[in-house]
Parts: sequence; C-alpha cells; structure tokens
Amino acid sequence: MKDGLEGGCACGAVRYRLGSAPMFVHCCHCRDCQRQTGSAFVINALIETDRITLLSGDPRPVAVPTDSGRPHEIHRCPDCGTAIWSNYGGRPALRFVRVGTLDDPTALPPDVHIYVRSKLPWIPLPEGTPAFDAYYDLQAQWPAASLERRRAILG
Ligand SMILES: [Zn+2]
Ligand SMILES: [Zn+2]
Repeated sequence: MKDGLEGGCACGAVRYRLGSAPMFVHCCHCRDCQRQTGSAFVINALIETDRITLLSGDPRPVAVPTDSGRPHEIHRCPDCGTAIWSNYGGRPALRFVRVGTLDDPTALPPDVHIYVRSKLPWIPLPEGTPAFDAYYDLQAQWPAASLERRRAILG
C-alpha cells in the first residue's frame, strides 16, 4: 500500500509524509516541465494538501511563468533548492508532489503520460499506460474514488 510514503529534498532539511495514496499520478512531457526540471519529464503525484505532513523544513513558493497565464508556484527547499511540490492555478488545496523526491519513487508509477507531443524521442513509453498528446479527460481516466476526492477539495 502507498500510505505513509516519505520524501524530502537533497540536503535533508525538508522532509514530508503522504497521508494516503495520491488521487492520480502524471508523467508530464511538456516543455515547461522539461525546462523546469532540466530533464525529459516530471512525475507528479496529485494529492490533497491536507494529506501531506511536513515533518521538517519550510518549502518556499517560487512563481514561474506559464503559457496559460494561470499561476504556477514551485515550492523549493530554501537551502538546497530542490523542488518538492507545485500548486497550479491558484488552488492551494491540491498539490502536485514531485515523485522523484520520495524515498521510494518506484512506489508511484504514472497513471498517464501527458503532453507526449513534446516527449523526447528517445524516451519509450510503457505498454498499457494511457498516453495523450496534450492534456486529457479527467472524468474518463480517474477512478471514481479519486474524482470524489477531487470534488471534495475543489468543488
Ligand atoms: Zn534541502
Ligand atoms: Zn508539464
């Protein structure tokens, strides 16, 4: 089970625990995520902010520009700068936790691959995981229980 997963930043100042499994896990191949990570994609676990326990440290929000103009803040360790999680669209109740910061990132494989149109060509996608050129239809992909959780925080 995916309860009680813990993670943190590179220097160890920030530590956190997830109170439950996330609602859904994105592997995003968009250009913004590539640039912000300096890598091929980002893996984000979408979970309610109130299910995250901050065990130590104080991640600081850094606003980044977006194509849509909607806000995106990346919360980073103030000491080492590791990106821990993001808030998108001015919705602080929902966090996108960077799966690569978990102590065991194998615990949360992606449920979908998105923005595959800008995927780097030498990255193969796994069989059996839905992949979308751009964004996707939440209602069609998310489990009913996760949609219910999302409604509970976002209305
Ligand atoms: Zn740190
Ligand atoms: Zn992205």
